[in-house]
Amino acid sequence: MAKEIKKSGKKYFECEECSFIYKDRKIAKKCEDYCRKHHACSIDITKHAIKIN
Ligand SMILES: [Zn+2]
Repeated sequence: MAKEIKKSGKKYFECEECSFIYKDRKIAKKCEDYCRKHHACSIDITKHAIKIN
C-alpha cells in the first residue's frame, strides 16, 4: 500500500517500491502495483511524480 507522507500540512503518497512521491493516492498505488509486477517504473506513471523538497 502506498505510504502516506505529511509535509507542510499536505498529504502525499509514496510508492514503496521506487520512492516516487505523488499527490494522488490512486496514482501512487498504481505505480506500486506496476513496480512490483514489472520491477521497473512506467514513465506514464512516474511523469505524475512530484518533488516535495
Ligand atoms: Zn513506483
